[in-house]
Amino acid sequence: MTQIIVIGAGPSGLTAAIAAARQGASVTVLEKMEKPGRKLLITGNGRCNLTNTLPAEAAYRGADQAFVRQVLGRFGVQDTMDFFHGLGLLTRERAGYVYPYTDQAGSVLELLLLELRRLKVKMKYNENVRQILRTDEGFQVRTDTWSYPCSKVILCAGGKAAPQTGSDGSGYELALSCGHSLTPIYPALVPLKAEGPLPRMLSGTRTQAALALEIDGRICCRETGELQWTDYGVSGIVVFQLSRFLPAALSEKKRPVLHIDQMPEYSRDELVEMLARRRSLCPEQGAEELLAGFMKKKTIAAFVKLTGKKVCQERGQAFADAAAAFLKDLTVTVTGTKDFDMAQVCAGGVPEKEVSPETLESRKMPGLYLAGELLDVDGICGGYNLQWAWSSGYTAGSSAAAALGAWGF
Ligand SMILES: Cc1cc2nc3c(=O)[nH]c(=O)nc-3n(C[C@H](O)[C@H](O)[C@H](O)COP(=O)(O)OP(=O)(O)OC[C@H]3O[C@@H](n4cnc5c(N)ncnc54)[C@H](O)[C@@H]3O)c2cc1C
Repeated sequence: MTQIIVIGAGPSGLTAAIAAARQGASVTVLEKMEKPGRKLLITGNGRCNLTNTLPAEAAYRGADQAFVRQVLGRFGVQDTMDFFHGLGLLTRERAGYVYPYTDQAGSVLELLLLELRRLKVKMKYNENVRQILRTDEGFQVRTDTWSYPCSKVILCAGGKAAPQTGSDGSGYELALSCGHSLTPIYPALVPLKAEGPLPRMLSGTRTQAALALEIDGRICCRETGELQWTDYGVSGIVVFQLSRFLPAALSEKKRPVLHIDQMPEYSRDELVEMLARRRSLCPEQGAEELLAGFMKKKTIAAFVKLTGKKVCQERGQAFADAAAAFLKDLTVTVTGTKDFDMAQVCAGGVPEKEVSPETLESRKMPGLYLAGELLDVDGICGGYNLQWAWSSGYTAGSSAAAALGAWGF
């Protein structure tokens, strides 16, 4: 009989299996898809931003920050680097963001699988786990076709972001069936839907911008980076970082407003002065020509359409004021987020208080361990979510193996 069953061959499950097998446990991984690590392969646009060496404070959201610190304290960034270097992975760092040297997520997955093979971990694919049953000897893990007896179970089935990769939320159902509860689940690190004609007018353009998110008249978050306009709203990493604050506000029927500064390097006064000077130097030019060096063509067209011909025909100050306002504080009302299929992670999950921070063993069903995105922990972009998967997976795997008695039960 296999001693430990790991459910899910994503980053947390593969790490848990390695950690447990390195301590001598016999381990079987059950994965519902035909191949392992489907989501891992698309991380970081296929390059896999596997961790981040910059401090993780404020990088994680979820109910209990102390819990996250404790787990990262047990297996943190340096342990992760050592772990991957030990597997033979060379890495490269760009401003704290760590990638495989090959810039291919496939290298990370391949080395994890080689280690699992070396440790003789059994990998079973197309095994969709339907039930985890408590028995006198331990557990029975039932899939569509088989029933696996074991002593310990590590549930690493992920959340429901990008369900096409396999994590379709069935892990939540399994956790509920074992006596756990769930905090509300929302798509996070996700594009935003916005009201009004601007998104359609600017769709396809990208701009370096400083964003400020206003909820209830208060700025709750600021981010700077490349903003991408789409026909439904806005996207890009800079938007993903803000997206975590929206589901709660939207569910309370609030109307969050995004303030977009499209030229953060210049003050409004500087812009007004430059625009007014151009206006006086080239009085014969229309708005499109005057703005050609300041805005992209689509942005000029939107400015002209939305502010009206009158402002554009004004001489001097009125034109400069209107154009500077458009550039420095363009506002859109956010009406929603895109769905889980476009989200990178899930916010919410099994509450931290329902598992031990030392071992990640369930407080509801001893012998069951939980790791990865299934728990109510989510990070900002930058490698923090994979770091959580490695840290929680390794902790759960080594704890489950350590808890096996002298007779292997
Ligand atoms: C497009 C995209 C890009 C991303 N880029 C990055 C990045 O660069 N850096 C970063 O830190 N994070 C990134 N993330 C987030 C990161 O991929 C996840 O946080 C991480 O994969 C979570 O790992 P996990 O093991 O908990 O879950 P998952 O990776 O979701 O793995 C869960 C596994 O469990 C399997 N499973 C589910 N239910 C069952 C069942 N009932 N029976 C058997 N198997 C089951 C699934 O098929 C899946 O293989 C990205 C996410 C996406 C979608």
